[in-house]
Amino acid sequence: MHDLSRRKLLKATAAGAGAVVLPGIVAGSTPSFATDDSRLSDSVKSPPAELTGRIVRPGDPDYPNASLGWDELFTHYPLVIVFAQETQDVVNALTWSRQNDVALRVRSGRHSLEGWSNVDNGIVIDVSELKSAQIDATTRTATVGAGLNQLEAVTTLGQQNFAVTTGTEGSVGLSGATLGGGFGFLTRYLGMACDSLVGAEVVVASGADGARAIEVSREKHADLLWALRGAGNGNFGIVTSLTYKVAPLRSVTYLQVTWEGLDDLPEIFDTWQRIAPFADHRLGTQLEIHPSQILLFAVLAAGTEAEAREILEPLLSIDTPEVTVQTGGWGEVYAGFQIPTDAEPANWKFFSQFTREPFPTKAIELIRAFMLEAPSEDSNFFAQAFGTGAQTEEPRGGSAYPHRDVLFYSEPGAGWGTRGEPNSGDATTPVAQAWIAEFSQALRPYVDGAYVNVPNIGMQDWETAYWGANFDRLRKIKAKYDLHNIFQYEQSIPPATW
Ligand SMILES: Cc1cc2nc3c(=O)[nH]c(=O)nc-3n(C[C@H](O)[C@H](O)[C@H](O)COP(=O)(O)OP(=O)(O)OC[C@H]3O[C@@H](n4cnc5c(N)ncnc54)[C@H](O)[C@@H]3O)c2cc1C
Repeated sequence: MHDLSRRKLLKATAAGAGAVVLPGIVAGSTPSFATDDSRLSDSVKSPPAELTGRIVRPGDPDYPNASLGWDELFTHYPLVIVFAQETQDVVNALTWSRQNDVALRVRSGRHSLEGWSNVDNGIVIDVSELKSAQIDATTRTATVGAGLNQLEAVTTLGQQNFAVTTGTEGSVGLSGATLGGGFGFLTRYLGMACDSLVGAEVVVASGADGARAIEVSREKHADLLWALRGAGNGNFGIVTSLTYKVAPLRSVTYLQVTWEGLDDLPEIFDTWQRIAPFADHRLGTQLEIHPSQILLFAVLAAGTEAEAREILEPLLSIDTPEVTVQTGGWGEVYAGFQIPTDAEPANWKFFSQFTREPFPTKAIELIRAFMLEAPSEDSNFFAQAFGTGAQTEEPRGGSAYPHRDVLFYSEPGAGWGTRGEPNSGDATTPVAQAWIAEFSQALRPYVDGAYVNVPNIGMQDWETAYWGANFDRLRKIKAKYDLHNIFQYEQSIPPATW
């Protein structure tokens, strides 16, 4: 998912990479930290908790910045934000919110597309300052703090010639992306991001009003590992670290192809949907249709320019597109195509969907018609090829993420307003919202399902759209780890009632 032309930015390098008591609200000692797996009975009470970590609250100079999400369409005024510095801060914050009956939200990279990682009058438990990374080259595993963003993760792994799948935008939280599935240029090569997740540390509710950290792996709490692979966003607990199986990756070839105007759209889209999902599994592609140009982004993992050009030849031979190519380490290439957040529109609205059969001409014509009426130049229709790639196979132990047999993912996206200029997008907001609603509605005959990481607020059957037949099992796992539904928001998983 991109939002601006990356052409100008191809060569740019992206930037990157004490206990406080909340006065007057609560005082007392912190609860003990338990890493054992024994469950505390619901009647066991914890000692009164204090908030620890870096605490920001209304009135603090940092509060406006600390409460701002990436999508400025959503504004919230939390009671307090806790930037955890270690797992114990998260245990304390969860205990405190339970003991004081304060609504909570979990936050990492702040890119929730409905603003659900923040809440008015509640507590935001933010893990973005948990930035550790340990890579074990022998076992090919990496354990990282839940606060890494995708750019930091790709760069850190890339320095040792390793990779996992991530999404495309570096500032997105690795946690948020992985826990909802996580796809990007390496998906057809390595599977979804969540497929590489082999372990996690998670702070869960425990006892009558407490919390504790548990280790999750294929051996311990395997049901929760399954759930975290695609349904872990704010549903079961607060993930404080993630362990991935990593793959060796020395170099990639990255192509950006630009066609001016939308005249060639029918031929480009049809050719793309017939070759990209079935190509060599090292190839990941994204097609992005803007009001006045069409962009194709392609990454060939462990491949050369000549190989990439050969695979993409049916597309490159349509008209006379501008083509730029870069071959290099995945970390460098990934950093090179990032767009600084400040250069992105302030407000965004998307609608996610999957497709199993190629779009007929009528659907492609619909895309062209809607893009010609887009509410802003930054609006786009984004599509990511899946097809026969590695994501068709579930990881050992399975996953809650269900969309394994799709041809491609797509989303219309509207972007408007200027960052740093409050209300600058207000006049466009109703137009953009209506455009997304009408565009997505027009495409319904050709799509199904939805991607939980790009939530569809206007969808009745969101539960099955996100997780298909896995939803019932998720409700049972929810009841096991969060019976009292402490982790809840607009589209969270309710506990099974049996
Ligand atoms: C510009 C942009 C580009 C994107 N591109 C892609 C892409 O290429 N591929 C893709 O797959 N997705 C993509 N996405 C979607 C992205 O994966 C989701 O928005 C993701 O949930 C954001 O995670 P975050 O940590 O940044 O956000 P946050 O707002 O911090 O969190 C998002 C959700 O995850 C929960 N959460 C966050 N951290 C934790 C944690 N540690 N434990 C438990 N729950 C947690 C939050 O409670 C919230 O529900 C994109 C989104 C944006 C805005």
